[in-house]
Amino acid sequence: MKDFATLSTGEKIANPRHLQRKAHNLARYQRRMARKTKGSNNRRKATRKVAAAHRKVRHARQDFLHRTTARLVREHDLIAIEDLNVRGMTASAKGTVQSPGRRVRQKAGLNRAVLDTGFGEFRRQLEYKAARAGRTVVVVDRWFASSKTCSKCHHLLTTLSLGTRWWTCPSCRTRHGRDVNAATNILAAGRVAAREQVRGEACGAGVRRQGTSLPRSATKQETGPVRAEL
Ligand SMILES: [Zn+2]
Repeated sequence: MKDFATLSTGEKIANPRHLQRKAHNLARYQRRMARKTKGSNNRRKATRKVAAAHRKVRHARQDFLHRTTARLVREHDLIAIEDLNVRGMTASAKGTVQSPGRRVRQKAGLNRAVLDTGFGEFRRQLEYKAARAGRTVVVVDRWFASSKTCSKCHHLLTTLSLGTRWWTCPSCRTRHGRDVNAATNILAAGRVAAREQVRGEACGAGVRRQGTSLPRSATKQETGPVRAEL
């Protein structure tokens, strides 16, 4: 959970350390609370500590999400993100879970509600801020094979194992970083969807557009996407 997001520009937005620390504190307080006898004074005290820790996580996360989405909207005209089924993924709990282009390594015991709301809230903020600023947010369906497709020549790998961070395209020999390659593909799909929207055509296969604003001239750098954590 080191990276919150990877952009097609190569930029990686790290999860803030203080937020991770607070999330771990919360998990620790929850474990302690679970060990206290129900109805006891100690249990009540522990419950209050959990609530306070939970508040701290929530505030820290909101603050981080607001800063991040504000900056992304300020710096980019078109933002393409992958539609991630966050709830479905975190529900499968232990070990490494994968949805195209996104990895969640969830420690058992790390608060699930915290993980659940992260990406949905990120997307919500991104969409309303983009609409307000006249920017475009395009949401690309998550079964789009963003990780397995070569962003250079569009060769499609049959498999790409979960742990593979770097790979070389067998067709054009381009070496790819997994996340940046996926981000580049998502941006390309987002551009197509945005163009189709402008022409007033039906939505493209596998891609749909969100938000109310029309794309403006690409004077600013465009960016794709955004794999969220926490
Ligand atoms: Zn290739």
